[in-house]
Amino acid sequence: MIEIVSAERCITCDKCIAVCPTNVFDRAPDGLPEIARQEDCQTCFMCEAYCPVDALFVSPTTHPEPVDEAGLGDLLGSYRERLGWGRGRTPGARLAVGPELRRPAPPRDKKGTTS
Ligand code: SF4
Ligand code: SF4
Repeated sequence: MIEIVSAERCITCDKCIAVCPTNVFDRAPDGLPEIARQEDCQTCFMCEAYCPVDALFVSPTTHPEPVDEAGLGDLLGSYRERLGWGRGRTPGARLAVGPELRRPAPPRDKKGTTS
């Protein structure tokens, strides 16, 4: 569930407001996103993933669990970091571990020889 919008980091780009599927945020008069309907949060992490400056923290719990921004350490924006989204990061899909794919056999001509 969304817990923190860091006023210190936020650049008021509105991306989190736009991507939230359940309209959790309002835009406050100062331009910062305001968590207006926390109970509607689906813990989908989309806002945190799209925030370009790692200003959001979505807790993995499905119920409110107030946290202190100062005590978060490097957890702020950490979901986006794990995805590998953001300048200078390696996309998570590149780091995924899976079975090695076999290369296809080289094509054969009509005589059955390979090129
Ligand atoms: S975690 Fe998903 S539902 Fe919750 S505020 Fe962010 S985008 Fe909206
Ligand atoms: S996506 Fe990040 S920087 Fe943009 S408005 Fe939301 S919290 Fe602020």
